[in-house]
This record gives sequence, structure tokens and C-alpha cells, in this order.
Amino acid sequence: MKRILSGVQPSGKIHLGNYLGAIRQHIEMQNKFECFLFIADLHALTTVRDAKIMRENTLNLALDYLALGLDPEKTIFFKQSDVPEHCELAWIFDCITPMGFLERAHAWKDAQAKGKKDTTVGLFNYPILMAADILLYQPDVIPVGQDQKQHVEISRDTALNFNKHFGETFKLPEPYIKENVATVRGTDGVNKMSKSYGNVIEIFAEEKVLQKQVMSIVTDSTPIESPKDPKKCTVFHLYECVAMSTEITNLKKKYEAGGFGYGDAKKELLKKLLEYFGPARKKRIELQKNLRYVDEVLEKGATNARKIASATMAKVRRKIGTR
Ligand code: AMP
Repeated sequence: MKRILSGVQPSGKIHLGNYLGAIRQHIEMQNKFECFLFIADLHALTTVRDAKIMRENTLNLALDYLALGLDPEKTIFFKQSDVPEHCELAWIFDCITPMGFLERAHAWKDAQAKGKKDTTVGLFNYPILMAADILLYQPDVIPVGQDQKQHVEISRDTALNFNKHFGETFKLPEPYIKENVATVRGTDGVNKMSKSYGNVIEIFAEEKVLQKQVMSIVTDSTPIESPKDPKKCTVFHLYECVAMSTEITNLKKKYEAGGFGYGDAKKELLKKLLEYFGPARKKRIELQKNLRYVDEVLEKGATNARKIASATMAKVRRKIGTR
């Protein structure tokens, strides 16, 4: 059976972009693949500098995944920091990675272009920790959004580089990017949905907040009575990602007929989101009553993940000569 692996940072509340671009694929793939999923808390440390917030975000993310259908009997679900081998392998990769290679990484180039003064070694090195996260488990497929494609490529290059220096050790993972949701647009109608742009729709937000976020989606100024092009509309783009094909066809007809305003479209989207995420929102409230269960899932996940990670590291240590 092929193995998949993916991770999400506990750096805030999850949004529709995270769900459609990555989480939904993880959940769907549980039945066909051997699955690993981790909460990337060490990555989140590049932005989260408050222990209480880190703990809260981590717990919330675990609750989100379990509510959305992650089955701990099918997926090894764990916290990155519970498996210290991630950092050990990252250091080994650091020692064979040319600086110039990481200087070309998008996240680093963006930070430089924005003239950020508080950039850290951690942000620069982020793709190497990610290469370690991935290669430790020798997965075949990495389901991610488009923004992470380069990082998976860096992991492949790092595997090739290690194999060249020390002999065949790591297999090369493939990114899996679902085309129609590779980059989910945010409520500003321009940028990808992202916490850092403040243009998100949080799927577990209270109904009032969710409503505000949906109603804030930027649209053009076509008057209510005129026909509208659904392809150009962010409301329709998001609706298409969660609705069934008959519902999409119906909404498209309303856009094209005219007499249907963007406010009406937003109401339909809100209704659909509440319906689509209704069962998960309910389940999350139930899970919150039993936090011990969440801890147990992550502890068991870490134990199982470490078995694989330590076997890979035993091999790596022999290859590099520290054993
Ligand atoms: P992050 O919150 O950056 O850890 O992202 C978690 C996962 O969500 C990664 O696989 C991202 O590629 C994916 N993702 C984040 N934002 C979007 C978006 N706007 N569209 C599609 N995928 C996304």
C-alpha cells in the first residue's frame, strides 16, 4: 500500500483554503493509503512565540482534524515535536545543503522582498525541516496546496543530494495537488486565502463570524438586475468547491439570468458552508468534552510514528558514520 504524509502548522484557526487544498484530501485518502499526518508545531515556532497560544492552537488543530473525519485507527496522527528525529535529520540535511539552494525558496524570497527585518534562521531553514519531516517516513505521495509544491520539490532534491553523498537511502516523494483547489482564493478576491492576508473563512468560527467573513467577500459592481459571470466571482469559486454539481449548475443559471445580486449569492454560500460543515461542527463540540481522548490519540500516534522514524534514523546514522 502506498504511503502518504502531510502536516499543518498550528499557527491559528484553520480556514477553507487549508481544508480544500489539503485537509479534505488527507481525510479522503485514509481509506486507500497508509497515512501519516502531523501537527507541525516546530514550524509554527517561526511565528508563534507564546507557549499558551502554541498549546491552544495545537489542541484546536487536533480537534479540527478529528471533527473533520480523521480516523486515528487509519491515520498515524501525531505532533512533530513528539518525534525528536525530525530535528536530528534536519541538522544532517543542513550540513549537505548549499545556502544558495535555500535562498531561492519562495517563503524566504517573499520575506526578503518585503524587507522584513525580523526574519530568522528558522524561516530560512524551514524547507529543510520540512524535507526531514517528509523523508523520515519514506512516503510516496504528499497532498498539499500549490503554495507547498516548491517545498516538496526541495525535499526531493534533498533526498537526491543525500543519496548522492551517502548512497541510496531515501525514495523521492511526489506532490499531490488537486487542480481545482490548488489555490483557493481569499475573501479579498485577489490573493490566496491565508491567515497572513487576513482574507479567510474559518470553518469552525461561530456562525456570526462566519457570516461576517462570507459577507465581506469582495465582488465587482455589476448591478443586481444584470447577468453576471460566475467564473469571475469569488463567491461562486468557493461555492463550487463545496456544492454538488446540480447545485452548482443552478447557481450558475441564477448568475447568468440576472436579477440575482452578489448578496444573494453570499447567502447561498453561507447556507451551503453551514450545511457542509454542520456535522463536523457538531462533532467538534462533542470532542471538546473529552480532551483526554485527544491527548491519547496524539500520544499513540507519536509512539507509532517514532517506530518508523527511528528505523530511518538508524539507517541514516550508519550511512553517515555516526554509528
Ligand atoms: P499551512 O497553514 O500553511 O500549514 O497550510 C496547510 C496546508 O493547507 C498546506 O498543504 C497548504 O498548501 C494548504 N493551503 C493553505 N492555504 C491554501 C489555499 N489558499 N489554497 C489551497 N491550499 C492551501
